[in-house]
Amino acid sequence: MAYRTTCDFCGAPIELVLVVPDQPRKGTTRKHVPLDLDFDTASSATPPSHALSAGRTTCRPITADRPLEHHEHPALTHFATCPARQRPPAAPRPAHALTAQESR
Ligand SMILES: [Zn+2]
Repeated sequence: MAYRTTCDFCGAPIELVLVVPDQPRKGTTRKHVPLDLDFDTASSATPPSHALSAGRTTCRPITADRPLEHHEHPALTHFATCPARQRPPAAPRPAHALTAQESR
């Protein structure tokens, strides 16, 4: 299942596509990933992150073990290109370690 929408942050046209995990597990919630609608391997500096199914209804992450197959469409998650999300990452500090230190 896939549907078109626009990004809440930058307004770019995106397509929310159901992600099919590489190794399906019981109890895993189904989730959609926003993919750039206008992704083009020829013009993009970023390699595709996801492989769209032939019908463009589902996608899966592209991995070293499972590269893009010829019947699949290359796609890129909008998280990689959204200008509103291009912020310097905050220094990662594990919450539990922080709590242990500050409680003393
Ligand atoms: Zn965006």
